[in-house]
This record gives sequence, structure tokens and C-alpha cells, in this order.
Amino acid sequence: MASGWQLANVGYAYGTTPALADLSLAIEPGGFYGVVGPNGSGKTTLVDLLIGEKAPSAGEIRFDGRAPAAWRRRDLARRVALVPQEFRVQFGFSVLDVVLMGRHPYLPRFAGPGEEDLAVVERMLDLLDVRHLCARPVTELSGGEKQRVVAARALAQDTPYLLLDEATSSLDISHCLKILRAVRQGVERQGRTVIAVLHDLNLAAAFADRLIVLHRGRLAACGPVAEVLDAELIDRVFGVRALVEREGKTTRVLYNYGEEGRQ
Ligand code: ADP
Repeated sequence: MASGWQLANVGYAYGTTPALADLSLAIEPGGFYGVVGPNGSGKTTLVDLLIGEKAPSAGEIRFDGRAPAAWRRRDLARRVALVPQEFRVQFGFSVLDVVLMGRHPYLPRFAGPGEEDLAVVERMLDLLDVRHLCARPVTELSGGEKQRVVAARALAQDTPYLLLDEATSSLDISHCLKILRAVRQGVERQGRTVIAVLHDLNLAAAFADRLIVLHRGRLAACGPVAEVLDAELIDRVFGVRALVEREGKTTRVLYNYGEEGRQ
């Protein structure tokens, strides 16, 4: 049985509005996949399909051999964690409650967290620098603090697959790098798989092994960063002129911040 995700001619439409069309790709276990593309190109829809939040309107998607939507939620939650773009917090949960939720897929029914669960949660509170917020209601946090708490919950889930949907968009550069370095470490040391929607092409180039590039709901490119990310692609997909520099394994994107055509 193939593991990871296999998408064959996947399409998704919101009513009559097509969001994804004819998407065929494989996300194999191990490695950091960056998902990039302009606003509205289908990135969040793709994440929702991968996690079984939505079922495709066309084609077929499989995760570890089964349609994601067909998995029992609890079983899937032991395999895949998600840091969503928007975390709608229900009233008054404390930061500690939310991070502990990451352990729910492992707890026997009606049982509280055990020693190991608490140890994992403690580690994540420190890693995401939210320990000092522990007793605070999540409803009273800033956007960036909330994002760190939600990331701590997802990491506490301790899954082989991690999906991040613009999970660093509200973070200062220090916390942004902290999260991306931590998940990158999980890829390198534990062979985990990360799929991260990122807007910043330089962050994507720095942390991802492979890019999935979406444009108007279609796959514009998919492959190793060094093969995929170039000035032609950035112009074609984002309509922006850029300079792409490569130095050894490093790829850097430089933009012309002045008027178009003056570079
Ligand atoms: P991205 O994450 O790349 O910004 P999305 O996957 O959120 O893109 O959206 C893809 C397309 O689907 C866009 O054209 C968007 O307007 C449309 N769309 C997203 N959510 C809905 C919805 N709930 N109802 C109708 N159209 C939607």
C-alpha cells in the first residue's frame, strides 16, 4: 500500500466556483513540502482535502491507501496534525487546555492526560514560548500568541505528518524561524513530513525540499526548490519580476520594490 497522499485528477468546486482542477501529485513520506501560490489559487482548499475536511468533487485522493474523509477522525488525528489558518476559539479555554487538546487522540475515553502526555505538552509550551501564557484564556491573546498556541497543540499531537496553513503569518521573525526550524528538525531527525502553505518565497526556499506551486486552481509546478523556483515561474504565477539567486544549496529571491519595468 502506498503511503502519504496520492492525488489523481482532483478537482474541487464551491457550488459553481471551481477552486481546484485536475490536480495530480504525490506527497511521499519524509521531507518538507512548501505550498505556494497567489491568494485564491487553492492552497487552503488543498489543505482541507488532505485532512479530509472536504471531499473532492472530481478525481480521487488517498492518504495511506484510504480517502482522508473516510478515516475515523481519531485515527487520522494520530497520523496528521494541522495548524489552520484561522483558529476559531471556543469561549474561555486556557492556553494549557488548548495545548492539551493535542493529546486527545491518544487518551482512553474519559481519561485525563498521563505523565507522558504532560511531558510532551510541557516541551511544546517551552518550544513555542507560550509557557508564561499558560493560564490565560486563548480568546484574550494577540494573533501571534494564538498562532503559537495552536502550533504547540499541533506539535503536541506528535504526528508523522504535519500541515501548516500560513501558520507563521502573524509571527515576528524570531518566532517564525523558531517554528520552522523546529518542524524542519522533525523532518531531519524523525523523518516526519511537513506540508506548509507559505507566502514568503524566501522562507519556502530556505525550509522546503520541494515546492507545490498552485496557480488559478491548477498545479503550476511541483518539484525540488532548486528546479522549480525561478524568475520565469514567479513572473508567470505571481506577475512579479524578481531575481532568483543561487549559491550552493541556498536559493534567494530578490524583488524590485520600485515601479515595474525600472529594474
Ligand atoms: P488560497 O488558500 O490559495 O488563498 P482558497 O483555497 O482559499 O485559496 O480559495 C480558492 C478559491 O476558492 C478562491 O477563488 C476562493 O474565492 C474560493 N473559495 C474559497 N472558499 C470558498 C467558499 N467557502 N465559498 C466559495 N468560494 C470559496
